[in-house]
Amino acid sequence: VVIRDAPIRQQSLREHNLGLVLRRVAGSATPPSRADVAASTGLTKATVSSLVEELVAGQLVAELDPTRRSGAGRPATGLVLRTDAAAGLGLEINVDYLAACVVDLAGTVRHRERQRGDQRGRPPAEVIASVSVLADRALAAAARAGLTPAGAAMAVAGIMHGERLVRLGPNLGWRETEMPETIAGLPLRVDNEANLAALGELHAPGGADRNFLYISGEIGVGAGIVLDGRLFRGSHGWSGELGHVTVDPAGLPCRCGSRGCLEQYAGQEAILRAAGQNADARDGDEVARILALANGADPAMLAALRDAGTALGVAVAGMVNMLDVGTVILGNSYAPLSPWLIDEVEREVRERVITADWSPVSVRPSALAAEATVVGAAGSVVLEILENPTGWLSSAIP
Ligand SMILES: [Zn+2]
Repeated sequence: VVIRDAPIRQQSLREHNLGLVLRRVAGSATPPSRADVAASTGLTKATVSSLVEELVAGQLVAELDPTRRSGAGRPATGLVLRTDAAAGLGLEINVDYLAACVVDLAGTVRHRERQRGDQRGRPPAEVIASVSVLADRALAAAARAGLTPAGAAMAVAGIMHGERLVRLGPNLGWRETEMPETIAGLPLRVDNEANLAALGELHAPGGADRNFLYISGEIGVGAGIVLDGRLFRGSHGWSGELGHVTVDPAGLPCRCGSRGCLEQYAGQEAILRAAGQNADARDGDEVARILALANGADPAMLAALRDAGTALGVAVAGMVNMLDVGTVILGNSYAPLSPWLIDEVEREVRERVITADWSPVSVRPSALAAEATVVGAAGSVVLEILENPTGWLSSAIP
């Protein structure tokens, strides 16, 4: 057996500790002093001071004005994240809209734009050109606020291979689509929309717990799985294809080639079809049509939503039995539809999850609703800065 673990180089150690200090500042409820950071990290005060100097020079951290401590001793200063320098750019290509947003280092949304319009069947290059226009406008807005995005993350409703190739965007009609390396001059990383939305929920103010499922209901149905506060991607990054979990082995044929997949019962087109509506209009307004009928108490739509909720609950209960998550978040277009879905989902989960009597599973709509994905995308860029500030420090110091 060859031991390949290398000793930590001095430089890597410093990079690690820079991230440690930065995350401690980010995670504190009140601005910590250098001494607080030293005490909570186990680093010496001298080391913390030197790391803080570097983070201050790199515009990631600011030191508040000295405030007199009670009792004797030198005045303490509080460390806070700077919200006027580093930022993340988030982009989203969805079936019926494009979106862009900028979040600062504290996770606050500083710019947002959403452009409605059916993207299905448009050539990918055209869609990417459209989203580039949104990216340019977002960068201009960021510059006016003094913000510099460190990179861009883009959410696509599809199955990814690595960070660049969309293997399959079934509802966009994309296949083996290569995404650009940069957008608006920024390095671009592409990820699945449910994954990025789950990250958005994880870091939302007052956020979700550390083990949850984020369910994204669009034409397709996807899930972001967060375990121990981290996104679980699986061995290829393909986890969370909830829409193709079987709910009826002898059921309706699915576009994936299988039968009885959840998507055929709880996807938007399936719901419209079950309610006797035209599901082929492809007008990008499926949710609005479902909502209008539900609000008007259309009996066929109410029944279709109850059946969708039941199918969703059956599939979700299977995942909860496997993963022991405490919370299920109904996200994206399931959020506005949740008043008509949640009772059925809760009932199926209560009846089918073996541990539900001891620890009830909480089912709730997403706090960020349809914005979770693009905010999560921007947040994932910020998260990278917090995980490894060295990249930003080496590129951004004027
Ligand atoms: Zn399927």
